[in-house]
Amino acid sequence: MLSDLTPAQRLKLLLLANGLAVSPAARRWITDAAHGAGLSSADYASTSGPILKLDDDVWVNAPVQDHNAFAAQATTVLDLEGDRLVIHDGNLVSPAWYCLQPQYHEPNHGRELMNLVVTHGDRVRLSPLRSCAMTCTFCNVPYDDPLSTYQLKPIDACVAALRVAVDDPIQPAHHILISGGTPKPKDVENHRELYRSVIESFPGVPVDIMMVPIPGVIDLPGLKTAGLNDLSINLEVYDRARQQEVARQKYNWGRDYYLDFIEQAADTLGPGRTRSMLLVGLESVESTLAGVEAIAQRGGVPVLSPFRPDPATPLGDMAPPGFDQLLDVYQRAQEIVDKYGAFIGPSCPPCTHNTLNFGTGADGNVTYGYPHPAML
Ligand code: SF4
Repeated sequence: MLSDLTPAQRLKLLLLANGLAVSPAARRWITDAAHGAGLSSADYASTSGPILKLDDDVWVNAPVQDHNAFAAQATTVLDLEGDRLVIHDGNLVSPAWYCLQPQYHEPNHGRELMNLVVTHGDRVRLSPLRSCAMTCTFCNVPYDDPLSTYQLKPIDACVAALRVAVDDPIQPAHHILISGGTPKPKDVENHRELYRSVIESFPGVPVDIMMVPIPGVIDLPGLKTAGLNDLSINLEVYDRARQQEVARQKYNWGRDYYLDFIEQAADTLGPGRTRSMLLVGLESVESTLAGVEAIAQRGGVPVLSPFRPDPATPLGDMAPPGFDQLLDVYQRAQEIVDKYGAFIGPSCPPCTHNTLNFGTGADGNVTYGYPHPAML
């Protein structure tokens, strides 16, 4: 029920639906602190805005007009009151804290590192590929870098870049996600080697992998033995006809192929460690909820990612899902996962900045598994 959401939680949904207006004073304050890194890393669609923390440990990546045209109509404002950030929309008000970007995002460190690693909140994402062997029309990767530029990034350079992110003096990464791009079949062995190298190189740092389960790329027992933390096998779209339109190659593998892999991974890795993301707003609410149920039934953790149109893609002019749709999906998905004793992921609070949830685990509590990120 709507009354179940706190003001900060309602503000998050409003921000995801309509975007954020940043007052000149708040922008100056953040810009000074970011030493030229800008409001956000803006490296892909759902991370295009600043990461903010609101009351009640609500984290949000707020779309801003700098990268998302729809945010020009935003009614939610980030402002500066004295020496504190505050966010308001009508009678909804919350203090806000800006999540600092790491030092290596500053322009004087060059773009080379950020072509390999980007930190969001307390997690660094490693992109081991340039471009992608697939072309999903909601994703900027194959449009920013077409298939003709496809290239593996050297494993030693990937590990060295991760070392910089983990040791960053401002915002050290406390966990790692390897994600972005699907390799060609001939490069599957390179990816297996990359996964092993990263896990071995950072023994105290949890490593997650997000990957399309093309044959051979994910060695479940081997990764479990090596110490993999979590795995994400994203369905993205549950409706078959819609999937054929927006993710043709994934459609060709078939839905059961994904669900079977999710079930196998959940059995191998144990409860709560296999996630699957669905994009909210690319298909009907009923289809998204059917996907939530299918993932939970197979022992996976559903993750809801509000679709954010990226101007570089064919879906760049689509509208993001509205507040009512987000609220409806969230509340009904919560009822579904409750039936299975599951939860809507992820459970790491800072990593919920671009997802439709509030970081509550299966026990209903928000728990920080890592040191709190540095905030302004
Ligand atoms: S497989 Fe992943 S990285 Fe490649 S186009 Fe699809 S969503 Fe983007």
